[in-house]
Amino acid sequence: MNYLDLSIADIHAALVAKKVTPLELTKEALKRAHESKDNAFEMILDDEAIAFASSLGEPEEDNLLWGIPYLAKDNFSTKGLPTTASSNVLNGYKPLFDAHVIDVLKQKKAVLIGKTTLDELAMGGTGTTGHLGITYNPYDPKHERMMGGSSCGSAAAVAAGIVPFALGSDTGDSVRKPASYGGVIGVKPTWGRISRYGLFPFAPSLDHVGFFTRYVSDAALLCDVLSGRDEMDSTSSEKPVPHCLEKLSEEKKPTFAVLSDIVDSIHDETILSSFRALCQKLEEQGCKVTYVPFGKEALESIYATYIVISCAEATSNDANLDGIKFGPYYEGKTYQEVMFNARTKGFSELIKRRFVIGSFCLMAENQDVLFLRAQRNRAKIVAKTNEILKDVDFILVPAAPSIAPKLGQSSDKLSDEYLIADNHLALGNFAGLPSVTLPLGYEEGMPFGVNLMGRAFEEEELFQACRLVSDSTGLEGSYYGKEDK
Ligand code: GLN
Repeated sequence: MNYLDLSIADIHAALVAKKVTPLELTKEALKRAHESKDNAFEMILDDEAIAFASSLGEPEEDNLLWGIPYLAKDNFSTKGLPTTASSNVLNGYKPLFDAHVIDVLKQKKAVLIGKTTLDELAMGGTGTTGHLGITYNPYDPKHERMMGGSSCGSAAAVAAGIVPFALGSDTGDSVRKPASYGGVIGVKPTWGRISRYGLFPFAPSLDHVGFFTRYVSDAALLCDVLSGRDEMDSTSSEKPVPHCLEKLSEEKKPTFAVLSDIVDSIHDETILSSFRALCQKLEEQGCKVTYVPFGKEALESIYATYIVISCAEATSNDANLDGIKFGPYYEGKTYQEVMFNARTKGFSELIKRRFVIGSFCLMAENQDVLFLRAQRNRAKIVAKTNEILKDVDFILVPAAPSIAPKLGQSSDKLSDEYLIADNHLALGNFAGLPSVTLPLGYEEGMPFGVNLMGRAFEEEELFQACRLVSDSTGLEGSYYGKEDK
């Protein structure tokens, strides 16, 4: 057992007691990063991390993040350091500023040891479309199964025990789905909780800063530290920051709604029986668990609604990726020609397809039937979600219908298993509600997860519920590489 494998609070205690130094921790994390074979890194920041860790001086007793190594998805701007969003269009781009969350972590003296891969521009859910190729799942050394995305590198690195936490971003499920495939905790707090200044936008009405950890207490700590109003992001909330860590162990007996149509769309018996066993354990502890239907038609419409809204927003946002304002310059006689060449050469097929969909939905003649209709449907789905959360404290569902799928294996895109069980996490983005994926079990040596969603800005209560779930499953900490995995 290395100090790096402990919870942040335990690493902190060792740092304060001078049993280990930030430099030793950083060197161990860098060594693990270099040894990893999962293609999880856009860059490993050896020199910068060693210089920063060496400069930290005396331990700060009341700062839990002091000297803790971490990673950031490469769509967070880092001053003077490449920020690629795993897209060739951003090759060579070095931001002039740090993203808000990078800045906060720098103030807290956490040590950034590298930047992780993603599906290009955070679009996609497989971890296969970034410009460096496929990111693999550390649970599958044969490299047959996906990591899931878009925050593939951060998920893989935390799963592999390289760092105690990593930043990600979540527009539809990009933190919470790979968390399920990687057996780690994946958090997306309430929309507006954490400033998105310096996060490369995908679809701002759905985008959230999120993060991966191995312990519930680490997730609660990060939520506290990263939350708060930031004048550089007008959508960040004025609400007081939560005290999730302090309130984590308060005794509560919350009520849970299981969305029955989601569970009915799942066929994997191992996932279903683990999920039922969890519900039973929660009930044995005095919690109330009820099965509630959401409405199949509404659930089946999530994916289409998500694609229309997110692609429309992305098309508009990413208009600046034109080979002039950003990106490698390719010759052309006119602005259109330069842009055409940069985008043709710079983007993968998935991005091109999404920009075509987005442009089509935004054309004047299509706006009402596509874009506005999707907005109206989103409003209905949000109303239904909030209605359920008036009667119960949390929505509880399996995070995904399966363990990490095999690479290249395609699913029936019109089945309920895909439309409902593979896409329901976007409910949390539509409504901006806080949502956490936690490990639930293992099948064929691969992890799968459970998801909890709560009311807006009730992260303190949500983490208390996570504590209950985690105590019931007994799955916390680093499992990768352990014999009993
Ligand atoms: N998998 C979803 C997509 O394909 C979600 C992406 C995300 O959350 N960034 O867009």
